[in-house]
Amino acid sequence: MPEGHIAERVAREHKRYFGRQRLRIDSPQGKFEHGAGLLDGACLVNVTAIGKHTLHRFRRDENAPAARDLWMHVHLGLYGKWASGDLPAPALRGMVRVRLLGEQHWAELRGPTTCEVLNGAGLKRLTERLGEDPLHTKLSGAAAYAKIANSGRPIGELLMDQAVVSGVGNVYRAEVLFRHGIAPHRPGNRIAAEEWTALWMDLETLMRSGVRLGRIITTAAADRDSRSRTVHPADQYYVYRRHGLPCRVCGTPVSVELAAGRRLYYCAVCQPA
Ligand SMILES: [Zn+2]
Repeated sequence: MPEGHIAERVAREHKRYFGRQRLRIDSPQGKFEHGAGLLDGACLVNVTAIGKHTLHRFRRDENAPAARDLWMHVHLGLYGKWASGDLPAPALRGMVRVRLLGEQHWAELRGPTTCEVLNGAGLKRLTERLGEDPLHTKLSGAAAYAKIANSGRPIGELLMDQAVVSGVGNVYRAEVLFRHGIAPHRPGNRIAAEEWTALWMDLETLMRSGVRLGRIITTAAADRDSRSRTVHPADQYYVYRRHGLPCRVCGTPVSVELAAGRRLYYCAVCQPA
């Protein structure tokens, strides 16, 4: 599943391609026809990301109060994907939920879990249910820690709960807990404040690097099998999808189990209960 770094990359790219332009917007597949009709021809004022959500902010009339702005809210889910490029746009292929046409670029969205239009009140409801996003540097992680420290749920589950922390998916969850030697089963109320501060800062570093590289790499050079300059896909992670393979640090086979419907990867030795 695309994690928060992908939403942030899309937001930055679309701001660069389409910012301050009046866009042609349609829904070739038809599922977003009404929403596209509300936004077609409006000016894209800004694009932001919160966790795995992207928000394209539109204003139809430059003189209208900002309170009338509308947002296109997209959550890619497991299968959603944006494509984009320079005009002319390619011939339509497959089920395109939304197509954006700007002055020099096009973008197409396929297969999102959510694609809807929100007004200011809808946006407020959305942001209120989302936890802090490590990519937003102004946030300290304190609000997230307040929820974690008061919960008996396992930290591995809390990190994936978008109401606690926004943007962390299965990869960042597994990798950050390994990097800090914390068992995913440990209850939130047994995570010390210093441990949380270190986790939060590391999440910010890892996710920022994900935004820059367009892929998640959590391993230190010394822990990789290959010494090549470009990091081989097999060397990207410590534990994610490495079950049965020797831990890069202690050699114990990496464990996997099912937790809350998702695969949970960890090293039982490096991350003792
Ligand atoms: Zn280990």
